[in-house]
Amino acid sequence: MGSTTADIIGFIGLGAMGLPMAQHLAKNTPAGTQLYVYDIVEKAMTDLIALHPEKVKPGKSPRHVAELCNIVISMVPEGSHVRAVYLDKETGICATALENKLLIDCSTIDTATSLEVKDHIVQHHPSASFYDAPVSGGVLGAQKGAIAFFLGCAESDPTLQRLTDLLRLMGKQVIPCGAPSLGLSAKLSNNYLSGLIAIAASEALNIGMRAGLDPRVLSNVFGAGTAQNTICDRFNPCPGVVPDAPSSSDYQNGFKVQLMKKDFSLAVAMAEQVGARLVLGDAGLKTYEAAAEDPRCRDRDSRVVFRHLGGDEDWAEKFKE
Ligand code: NAD
Repeated sequence: MGSTTADIIGFIGLGAMGLPMAQHLAKNTPAGTQLYVYDIVEKAMTDLIALHPEKVKPGKSPRHVAELCNIVISMVPEGSHVRAVYLDKETGICATALENKLLIDCSTIDTATSLEVKDHIVQHHPSASFYDAPVSGGVLGAQKGAIAFFLGCAESDPTLQRLTDLLRLMGKQVIPCGAPSLGLSAKLSNNYLSGLIAIAASEALNIGMRAGLDPRVLSNVFGAGTAQNTICDRFNPCPGVVPDAPSSSDYQNGFKVQLMKKDFSLAVAMAEQVGARLVLGDAGLKTYEAAAEDPRCRDRDSRVVFRHLGGDEDWAEKFKE
């Protein structure tokens, strides 16, 4: 067990992902484990505490949580929030002594900010350890405890077993990606690919459907041929093809298009930094920027690019028996 009865665990950022993750921690840690949580939105804390009044207590700031806990996990939206949570001189985690503490950031952010936080900790708190551990699997995955963690460490890292045991309390898979910040590099590469597949799938569906094909037939063709991919199989962008895909419920309860825009733009910036030539990056970024601003698409699952690109959502009428 990575988490023993001696562990006092902090969780910062109780949003769409953080709340179900913290709930799994509260449920799956041994009796006697104490959890301290913090979110700038007080209601997020009180809701969780109401569910687990014995185990979960409120913190007053990230610093306060770090003072009370030997493990701290954070799950906030962007690099600026991670910087505030760790480096704020008054309220940040690093504003207190961090002897031997284990700090894990699960947010999807730019690698530069993550390395800046890590360097600060190495320099000022040498006995503490900091890891990037972004996640994949979405809100439903977080609720089911089925997310995957991409961990910024080597397979030989002596803390890997402890980290794996701890993270498995909230998810299924833990993949060590090699070194600090490479968990984030892996996550951004993954979302670049998944974002482009969604656009390509939407375009290909739109072409075939306008030529007269039933999208169910077309998706079967993709599935049987060289175009087979998870987006079409499980998250088909065309409504009504895969009944439990977000597209079939008006693109609700998925991975919001604004988050895809954020991750895609972080991936494009990373490509520039590392000198990777992109031919699709600019087109992909423009598409997600526009879809995130499109009132028909905003706040909906990112596969709503099908709608944004003019895909036919009322196709079922044409194929009535
Ligand atoms: P969210 O906006 O729903 O939640 C973020 C939470 O962080 C909010 O409750 C907010 O109040 C809190 N917060 C912000 N600043 C804070 C601070 N300084 N101190 C304490 N709390 C603070 O976002 P989310 O969907 O939970 O996403 C969190 C991260 O996970 C993002 O980086 C996102 O890209 C990534 N992610 C999201 C999904 C998804 O499907 N939503 C999937 C994988 C990864």
